[in-house]
Amino acid sequence: MPMPEKIIETKICKHCGSSFDITDNDLDFYDKISPIFNWKKYPIPSPSLCPDCRQRRRLSRRNERNLYKRKCDLTWKDMISIYSEAPAKDASLGAGKPFKVYNQKSRRSDDRNPLDYGMLFDPATPFFTQFQKLLNQVPLQALIGANNENSDYINLTADSKNCYIVIESSNNEDCYHCYRIQKCKRCCDCSFCHECEHCYETHNCKFCYNTARIQDSQKCANSMFLRDCLGCSYCFGCSNLVNKSYCVYNQQVSKEEYEKFIKELYTGNICNNLRDAREKFHMLDLQLPKKFAHLTHVENTTGDYLNNAKNCSFCSDGYDVEECKYGEHVRRNAKFVMDGSTVGRDAELIYEAINCGIGAQHNSFVAICRSSSYMNYCFSCFSCTNCFGCVWLRNKEYCVLNRQYSKEEYEKLVPQIIEKMMSDSAEDGAGSSRWEFFPSHVSPFWYNETVAMEDAPLTKEEALKKGFNRNDYETPFPQVEKTLKANELPDDIQKVSNQILDQAIVCEVTGKPFRIVKQELEFYRTHNIPLPHRHPDQRRKERMSLRNPRKLRDRKCMKCWADIKTSYSPERPEIVYCENCYNKEVYW
Ligand SMILES: [Zn+2]
Ligand SMILES: [Zn+2]
Repeated sequence: MPMPEKIIETKICKHCGSSFDITDNDLDFYDKISPIFNWKKYPIPSPSLCPDCRQRRRLSRRNERNLYKRKCDLTWKDMISIYSEAPAKDASLGAGKPFKVYNQKSRRSDDRNPLDYGMLFDPATPFFTQFQKLLNQVPLQALIGANNENSDYINLTADSKNCYIVIESSNNEDCYHCYRIQKCKRCCDCSFCHECEHCYETHNCKFCYNTARIQDSQKCANSMFLRDCLGCSYCFGCSNLVNKSYCVYNQQVSKEEYEKFIKELYTGNICNNLRDAREKFHMLDLQLPKKFAHLTHVENTTGDYLNNAKNCSFCSDGYDVEECKYGEHVRRNAKFVMDGSTVGRDAELIYEAINCGIGAQHNSFVAICRSSSYMNYCFSCFSCTNCFGCVWLRNKEYCVLNRQYSKEEYEKLVPQIIEKMMSDSAEDGAGSSRWEFFPSHVSPFWYNETVAMEDAPLTKEEALKKGFNRNDYETPFPQVEKTLKANELPDDIQKVSNQILDQAIVCEVTGKPFRIVKQELEFYRTHNIPLPHRHPDQRRKERMSLRNPRKLRDRKCMKCWADIKTSYSPERPEIVYCENCYNKEVYW
């Protein structure tokens, strides 16, 4: 969205009560995305929720990593799914979901026409009640993903091989406990990485090899505890270094000194040594300036974690994008996207959508829609055009609630539904029965199992008050021979026998037991990494905390006092510089 924008209206968010602005550019966008039926435009109104609450509402449709063991409702074979088992099988646990869920293969081979579930629109019943009924009936796919091999426990992942707990990723091999990684090989506990190999606890890095506990770095190898480094190898505990070798805590040492340092680190109590090293590095790192945002090759853009972006505002985690606003994980030639979460691959003119792409055009209020255009309120539809309130359609047009209409009938019926939605009183206390994204409660997931919970944790009461679904169910832990406390584990990975595979380790922070899988154990052995003392969820939480929050603040550069828009809040201890001052410090 080109800047500067002119504020036309300031609204109060119906969920959180904070104020937010509607600009001239926003209004232009809503006008552009508003559908036309029978030569008449039906203007999409400006939203009733602030951008953060809109994002939270979208993300409450995405269960990324709560994976359940259950039966396929078609073949009755065991499978892993993002949907917990239907209530009839174990109602006492309260874990049930009303959906029919098929495993990937059987879902695709199911020859029942999704139009068989079609429903006639009933003008006397709220539209979303009818949509929810349809969602409960059309069989869903156990996990989201395609072209994966030997990788049962992965979700939102494609073209991957031999992976375990890899989420929202593609084209990876032999990776474990990773999140948002692309083209990586033999990595464990990594997130937001691209083309990395043999890496451990590596976060927001590109083209790295054999690194551990590093972040925000590129083209580094054989190093540990790095931050904001470029082209470094054999470095330990360093920050803001470019093209260096054999440095320890930002000091140049000889090759021999470096090797002696590493040898001592792996002598005695290795875990304690590593913990002390982490602390020492952290203290050093805090004294060195940080660039105001993780932005590279951007033009007229605000946000964080963006690469190659033009005219974007308030976006994060994106690359190769233009003219996007309030986008999160917008990427690969996404253009004119507002309020998009994971939107990309040539998607254009998309509003309030989650997981939408591959040539998707002119869609509003959709979840998991690919190669489709002119879609509203659709879930899991591919290669469709002009559909409204449909679930799991393929190659269809002019459908409403999975029922086929002619073009003329469609153009007559959809405006009736829109008018009904506009006139209905608020259904969930959030004004969402207006013509906006799906209301909070129309989601196949509980708020607490979705990624929204990680992003914006809500107590049970808060979640229910905002209209979200909520449940206390937790997956029962599988039976193990023995449970070990983290401090009972050998320090030296080479002393760990295969017996550990039948045992569980109790997380030293949360007390939650966790298991090690065979491939993971082999990874630790190969890379001489002590067994983790913390549950994968806790490790992930700690990795995610290395990332700045999505909120941007107006601050001044701490060197030249230029204005900056940064995700470093003023209370934080880091020294924050504008791009010029940071570059002078690091590259000159
Ligand atoms: Zn809000
Ligand atoms: Zn400056």
